[in-house]
This record gives sequence, structure tokens and C-alpha cells, in this order.
Amino acid sequence: MKAVVYQGPRKVSVEEVPDARIEDPNDVVVRITTTNICGSDLHMYEGRTGVEEGKVLGHENMGVVEAVGDAVRQFKAGDRVSVPFNIGCGSCRNCLTGWSSFCTRMNPTEGMDGAAYGYANMGPYDGGQAEYLRVPFADFNLLSLPEGDEHENDFTMLSDIFPTGWHGVELSGFQVGDRVAVFGGGPVGLMAAHSAMIRGASQVFVVDRQPDRLRLAEKIGATPVDFSQGDPVQQLLDATDGLGVDRGVEAVGYQAHDHSGEEHPELVLDNLVASVRTTGGIGVVGVYVPEDPGASSDLAKEGRIPWQYGQFFTKGQSMGTGQAPVKRYNRQLRDLIVAGRATPGWIVSHELGLDEAPDGYAHFDAREDGWTKVLLHPSA
Ligand code: NAD
Ligand code: ZN
Repeated sequence: MKAVVYQGPRKVSVEEVPDARIEDPNDVVVRITTTNICGSDLHMYEGRTGVEEGKVLGHENMGVVEAVGDAVRQFKAGDRVSVPFNIGCGSCRNCLTGWSSFCTRMNPTEGMDGAAYGYANMGPYDGGQAEYLRVPFADFNLLSLPEGDEHENDFTMLSDIFPTGWHGVELSGFQVGDRVAVFGGGPVGLMAAHSAMIRGASQVFVVDRQPDRLRLAEKIGATPVDFSQGDPVQQLLDATDGLGVDRGVEAVGYQAHDHSGEEHPELVLDNLVASVRTTGGIGVVGVYVPEDPGASSDLAKEGRIPWQYGQFFTKGQSMGTGQAPVKRYNRQLRDLIVAGRATPGWIVSHELGLDEAPDGYAHFDAREDGWTKVLLHPSA
């Protein structure tokens, strides 16, 4: 089968690889209809992780069941499914309590709980930027979708960025009527803004400097804050009578930069602490890493980030962090899509065939104007 393979920094290619197949009675093989390029893939693409060359990428996958293992009960060939990016066993302490993103069994990497498809340090699993994908413990991991091809571009957001944005809002301690500032207007930040609006925020701000992303934020009813036009903290305080917002969502991650493009991993955390009110909450879904050989400072190379913890404590704020447990939300979010109450497909800017993936990676990585979210359709 054809698949997108990591070949080294800023190089992916479409190669012929062995077909995905049933390896365990609990497996399903899914024929991929849509798979997306994620901001998280760019950490690998840019050579900022230890991902091995030859890895098949892709963790935002959906499609149609092609084959089922003997122990699979809930799915049969022909079923349309969404595949969460997390791979859970379904029976460990964390999976049982709704934290499939920290499954203690599926990732053999020392000191790492939580597994994913096609990702550095997240276990030996191939990704779904390919014609077929093997899904372990399919009864636990897969989500059923309505038959046909309706809502394809909405449903494809269920494997990662929609639940991840929703999780960022959840981790912030959000309550109806709150004012929310989302830092990062990439796909994840825009999905966090979409989630906060659906959940009844009184006002949502999106901080970024990319004109296309700020325009999209405005289009869905959020207030854009352009950090290239002045200190975003001051802009948020001015917009909230000096009070600050109730909740903040971090959707940027460790490669945060200032308006000149210089990397500052502490910048967004500091901005959040300064712009969220006392006793307010912060949800961090932007990725931070325990080791970053590509970091600009020795501290950051060890994953140490000198952020304003003192002010965070003094303001009595709370913070939640980590990879999103997609399964915790994806059924409800699917039903919101079916009911027409959520329409995350508005984020899609490009739909490409699998062969065009190298181009899609290059444009999306350059954050080129208008390249907001790239979908690949392997079976197109
Ligand atoms: P992205 O890189 O396209 O978006 C990041 C955005 O942040 C960009 O638009 C950039 O201009 C903006 N930005 C940079 N510095 C900023 C600053 N100082 N202030 C405000 N905005 C700034 O990526 P994405 O796909 O939206 O993903 C965002 C983050 O979420 C990444 O770190 C990704 O790995 C992570 N992620 C986490 C999970 C999870 O489960 N926790 C899941 C998916 C993605
Ligand atoms: Zn993703």
C-alpha cells in the first residue's frame, strides 16, 4: 500500500510499504478515506523529535472497516468509523477512568504513558496517512459514524483537533458565560474557540499574528487579537475593563515565538498567567516536551521552561495539561455535528490526494497564508 513516510528533517515521501494487516484478534484494519496533517506532525517534520526515518505518519484518521479480527464484536466490514489519535488498551487504570491519552499499557517507551499512531515516542504504531491502518483494541478505540459520506470534513476533526480544542476549554475550568482567551489560532486553537462558543462563552478572543487565521476566528464570531500589533496581554486587559479573562487556552506549544519570530517557550504561558484573572483557569493543550535538542537555550533543551510560576501562584490560578483523551468527548461531538450544532469542517483549507502529501506538509509547515488545515484522501 502507499503511505507517507518520514525521511528526515523537512522531508516526507509517498512510498510503497507492507499492507496494514490484522496482527491480533482485537485488531481492525481501516481503509482510510480521510487523514489530516496536524500541527503535531510538524514537530516531527521539522526534525524536533527523535522519530525514526521510515515511520509512517498520520494520527488523524477516519475511514471504512476493511477487515476485523476474530475477537472484535462491535464492528464489521463496511462500517464507517472515526479513529481517535490515542491508542488505549481499554482496561488499564487510566483508560478505565477516561484518560485513554495516558494508557499505561500500549506505549513500550520507558517512562511514557499514552500511545498514538505515527508519532515519535508514542509506541511502534504506523500512522494512517496511508491507504490502510491497523487499529488495536478496536472495540474500545473506534467510534461509529453514520453510513455514507455526509459530514466527512466535519467528522475527520473528531480524531484529534475538535476534541483537543474542547479538552483545552474543559481543562481551563470553563463555565457558561465565561470570557475565554485562546492563544494560538492554528487548527487546535480555532477548534478551542469553536468549542467555547458552542459551550456558551460570553466572549472568545483568539491571539495570533497570521492574518488568515485571525480572519477565520472573526468569521466564527470570536474577537481576533493580533500580537504583531502590540502586547496581547494589554489588548486583552483593555478589552475586559482591566479585569482579565476568566479562562485561557494554550494552543501554541513549545515552539511559541514572539512577533519577530524568535522562539520563546515561556512566552505564551506568561501571557496567559498575566491575562487570566485571579482564581481563573488555564488549559494547556499546546505540546511541551521533556527534552528538546533543537531548543535555543540549554534549559529548554532539558524541557525546563522558566515561566512566571510566582505570579500564577499569587493569582490563585489553576492549570490542566496534556494530550487530549479523545474518547471522552468524541461521541458527544459527533452527535453535535449530526445535529448541525457543530461544524468543525469550516477549518479545512485544502484537500489533496495522498501523492500530494509532501507539498501539503511544506505549505502547512511554512504557515503559508490560507493553508489552515490540510486533508489527504488516500482512496480518492
Ligand atoms: P499550528 O502550529 O498550526 O498553530 C500554532 C499557532 O500558534 C500558529 O498559528 C502560530 O502563529 C501561533 N503562535 C505562535 N506563537 C504565538 C504566540 N506567542 N502567541 C499566540 N500565538 C502564537 O498548530 P496546531 O495544529 O494548531 O497545534 C497547536 C499545538 O497543539 C501544537 O503544539 C500541537 O502539537 C498541539 N496539539 C496538542 C494535542 C493534545 O492532545 N494536547 C493534540 C493536537 C495538537
Ligand atoms: Zn493531530
